[in-house]
Amino acid sequence: MDRAQQIFDRLDELGRISEDAHCLTRQYGSDAMRRANNLVGSWMKQAGMDVRVDAIGNLIGTSAVPSTGGSSRKTLLLGSHLDTVKNAGKYDGPLGVVLAIAAVEQCKDKSLPFDISVIGFADEEGVRFQSTYLGSRAVAGSFDEKDLQRTDANGVTLANAIKHFGGDPNKLSECRFDRTKLLGYFEVHIEQGPVLEQKNQAVGPVTAIAGQTRAKIKFEGKAGHAGTTPMSMRRDALCGAAGFIQMVESCARYNAGLVATIGQIVCEPNVSNVIPAIAHLTLDVRHRDDKIRLRACDELQAAAKKVAALRNLAMSWQVVQETTSVPCSTEFSIRLHQAILKHQSDVTDLPSGAGHDAAVMSKICPIAMLFVRCKDGLSHHPDESITVEDVRVALAVLTDFIHSFGIRK
Ligand SMILES: [Zn+2]
Repeated sequence: MDRAQQIFDRLDELGRISEDAHCLTRQYGSDAMRRANNLVGSWMKQAGMDVRVDAIGNLIGTSAVPSTGGSSRKTLLLGSHLDTVKNAGKYDGPLGVVLAIAAVEQCKDKSLPFDISVIGFADEEGVRFQSTYLGSRAVAGSFDEKDLQRTDANGVTLANAIKHFGGDPNKLSECRFDRTKLLGYFEVHIEQGPVLEQKNQAVGPVTAIAGQTRAKIKFEGKAGHAGTTPMSMRRDALCGAAGFIQMVESCARYNAGLVATIGQIVCEPNVSNVIPAIAHLTLDVRHRDDKIRLRACDELQAAAKKVAALRNLAMSWQVVQETTSVPCSTEFSIRLHQAILKHQSDVTDLPSGAGHDAAVMSKICPIAMLFVRCKDGLSHHPDESITVEDVRVALAVLTDFIHSFGIRK
């Protein structure tokens, strides 16, 4: 059987399960999510796995891989997420789950000194409740009970959504995996960037999931008549913001590996013949090295102060989110490098600019990730595209990676 083609076909089939007739949208707790769990669960069963859905809705298949090692046997957890953003592509998330099931089938007849489980996380994108990683946080034991009171756009609380999905908000602690029994967590994901395509490589190992700072910045000046206020007497908040935006871009270009984005700007009063009084900006800064990210943020804050002082503006800087960088396990990365080199002539290490369930799982076990080339580096878009040939390489690499632990008793 051509397993790579089967993975490809399964991803097509899964990609048709949507809550929206016109595009792919599969949010946490939706009927589409239930149908996706049923379909993927049936594939897990075909691969010989025992299947269950935990209290928050994560789909978990436990393999019956012939294993040795008795009661000290650990579990290698493979997976990714089955929820999507709105108007999504069909590979971001599902690839890592469907590929993992195929890898279990590949390993069926091998005697391994550990068990394999496959997990399809119920919520990574966080579209419905504006809170990411609900599924993996329950598994890692870092779920915040306060999140149960979050509401979706229709006023439904997360607690009620869990119940409606067949779960139990009072039993989320039972989702937790025993860290002493976990060998590690491994996730295959589309790259979401253009590097592998540029290098003409099918797959690449992830070195670390970048740390991130998100801040809200406000420049405040004074509104005035656009026709009568002389240029020398203005306190134009938007002109201050414009100068600052240029500095953000320069800062990121100057520091290798740093990405920085002003994604949103809201101007007040936002009227064509009035000098802008206030400019609200959002800043997003990421780097795999926390020291570089934090230094860049300090420099940018100093730059914003300078811009404000020059134009006689007030400036406020509010950090709204800060996550540290998560390195992948060195041991896993070495194994992964060796597995990749069996199937392609060169290896390009890739930092992940986006967050993943693996970052949450790193709190309880070693993690590693493999990226698969995607066309034009596109993700979170219906035009997401990968090839059967690359899936074939990814499956071979994953299988060899699993087997690399087999020599350990
Ligand atoms: Zn994803």
